[in-house]
Amino acid sequence: MHDRQWHELLGMGIESLPHALLLSGAPGLGKLQFAERLLTLLLCEQTTVESGLYKSCGVCSGCRWVASKSHPDVRYLSPDGEDSEEADSLSSGSSVALSEMDPPGVGKAKPKKRGSAAIRIAAVRELEEFVFVGSHRQGRRIVLITNADAMNTIAANALLKILEEPPATVYFILITSNQDRLLKTLRSRCRLLGFVRPPHAEAVQFLVQNGMPPTAERLLSLAGGAPLQVVRWHETGKIESLNALLQTFRQPGDNPLILAGRWDDLLKKNDHLKMEFLVEAVQRWVSSAALGGASLTSNTLFAAWRSLLECRRSANHPLNQLLFLEEVASHALRAISGLAPAYKADS
Ligand SMILES: [Zn+2]
Repeated sequence: MHDRQWHELLGMGIESLPHALLLSGAPGLGKLQFAERLLTLLLCEQTTVESGLYKSCGVCSGCRWVASKSHPDVRYLSPDGEDSEEADSLSSGSSVALSEMDPPGVGKAKPKKRGSAAIRIAAVRELEEFVFVGSHRQGRRIVLITNADAMNTIAANALLKILEEPPATVYFILITSNQDRLLKTLRSRCRLLGFVRPPHAEAVQFLVQNGMPPTAERLLSLAGGAPLQVVRWHETGKIESLNALLQTFRQPGDNPLILAGRWDDLLKKNDHLKMEFLVEAVQRWVSSAALGGASLTSNTLFAAWRSLLECRRSANHPLNQLLFLEEVASHALRAISGLAPAYKADS
């Protein structure tokens, strides 16, 4: 995957690689994997070129150190106490998906709060020494910043200073799934490399290449089209519960009480399945049904959509789970009841 971006970046040779890169796109599209591939290439001591593509050797000490995240010439920066942004969206939800799915006129949803997780000024200050003091291996040095949008303004400005005149051998790779929240001046210092959802056929091909079962394809709809997310779900044994969730969308019935009961059951049996994810999935289901059938501006659908959005905001700690699910189910059923029956059965 991402050979296009690889070519785009390295087509003119490693030496012409920009010193500040911003990898931007929705979660689960492989930005982190791409960054790690690039990191390895830059620090590999025996790179090769195969059919026009640069490759790292995978066996030299540079490659091995990167693989074990212990290379002395790499610094990793991410928000305090938070794993990388490519973390499983089952539990984290994703604010990006929310705004991307807004029907026209609803306006941007408020970004999900990250709690206190932020990249702080102290962390950026520590970079200064790393950047301006010589390397351990007399080679390149790299700073990888995941969730770069979590930098507060002070931290972002400090980074900006470093980026103004970095030594020739230092590279910055920033990753974000919320590009709009990044300081503008910082964005303009970086070469932007966009990651978009692969076409469905390509995503399916990726799943096959990664040994996923044929049923995994259906989960792409839950993953917002991001194949890597599906692979991750498979690796962590979540496929079965997600298929069960999809089944409730395929045959929702017309009784919100029963539908809510099925969801409640799923949530109780599967700890990894979170309420917020479920409500987001319901939203996706309703919107894909709508895109396939009725007009998005239909009043019933619009009202149901807004209600679901409200539900999603309060999904973290409902007072009564079953009651809350009933509300979600009735909104969803109300929305799809306005659509052609064919879309109800096969969404
Ligand atoms: Zn190597």
